[in-house]
Amino acid sequence: MRTLTVNTSNQCYPIHIGRGTYQMLPRLMKEVGVEKDRKLMVITDSSVAPLYGQSLQASLRAEGYQVGMTVFPAGEESKNLSVVERVIGDCLQFGLDRSSVVLALGGGVVGDLAGFVAATYMRGIPFIQLPTTLLAHDSSVGGKVGVNHALGKNYIGAFHQPLMVVFDVDVLRSLPARQVHSGLAEVAKHALIWDVSFVEWLEAHAEELLALSPERLTEAIFRGCEVKSAVVSQDEKELGIRSILNYGHTIGHALEAVSGYRVYTHGEAVAIGMAGASRLSARLLGAPGELVDRTEQLLRRLRLPIRYAENWPLPALLEAMKKDKKARGGQYTFVLSRKLGQVETVRGIEEAEIVQTLKEISTQ
Ligand code: NAD
Ligand code: ZN
Repeated sequence: MRTLTVNTSNQCYPIHIGRGTYQMLPRLMKEVGVEKDRKLMVITDSSVAPLYGQSLQASLRAEGYQVGMTVFPAGEESKNLSVVERVIGDCLQFGLDRSSVVLALGGGVVGDLAGFVAATYMRGIPFIQLPTTLLAHDSSVGGKVGVNHALGKNYIGAFHQPLMVVFDVDVLRSLPARQVHSGLAEVAKHALIWDVSFVEWLEAHAEELLALSPERLTEAIFRGCEVKSAVVSQDEKELGIRSILNYGHTIGHALEAVSGYRVYTHGEAVAIGMAGASRLSARLLGAPGELVDRTEQLLRRLRLPIRYAENWPLPALLEAMKKDKKARGGQYTFVLSRKLGQVETVRGIEEAEIVQTLKEISTQ
């Protein structure tokens, strides 16, 4: 098991990554002050509950904990306030009080929703993230929790840091291949924005990662979390540097929005977005051609798309990019890169430059 610590202004919390870590939960919970007299509530979704939820609940009960569990239908459509209200109802019925602890067992949807429940239930109770997708190595660290509104994704939310994050890499074995690839996009993003040696490591170990080698997955998640936690520690509330985590996301979010969130996984959209961002970086910041080539090669090796084939209307894509939460004052804002492993936020980009870039990453 590998462990790192996230430092925020008023809290430090550990991230544990490895094999068989759920068996160590009683000891790990004790280390963060959660004794057996505190009630636990597992919040999970309908795919994860039969795979890992029931066994987790049973093993914690066998250890003497009082553990409830509430399950909502798997999928992004569940990430809304009515599911939050239902889950809160289950928490009340189980008798959770201010000293109780939520266990968020699942992918990013569960982490975001259960974290939001924990942030708001009785004005906030502690929660532990038990991420079960590769993508959730990203979403479980940093304290952003929330749900969607009919008018947009993640419009309702809070900052609520977990008490700890425990990642069991063995659970990734049941993940559909497409979800593995999607998670690898965020791993690649963490390397591309921060650490050229991590890029080299990914280039060298792509095949083993795709084959779900537990040692390589542990290392990749550890290094990805290291980057995320370094960024988040410097800027917990996204007032500055944290926005670099949006590398590839301006185009990525736009592709997701125009396609009604049904065509690409989040990671696929971000991969196409990173290919676009690297090309825009070459165009605007004079980044070397090597940046584009290595970015695109790495993404391809991780079985990710770098082009979109659909004929999405340009005005809709541009509008979505302007509406992106991170765009301020209707200007186009991108995270761009001068060289591998280093990025910066660039505002006020000309529309013509973006249109040209979109042409380059479209196969139409
Ligand atoms: P997800 O939670 O919907 O999981 C994908 C699918 O895999 C679901 O059907 C789920 O039930 C299933 N699943 C989960 N674990 C499994 C396992 N081990 N085996 C088999 N199936 C499993 O999606 P995701 O990609 O993990 O997360 C996407 C969400 O994360 C989005 O809502 C996004 O907004 C959010 N997110 C949040 C942050 C943040 O900082 N809070 C960052 C990135 C993404
Ligand atoms: Zn993302």
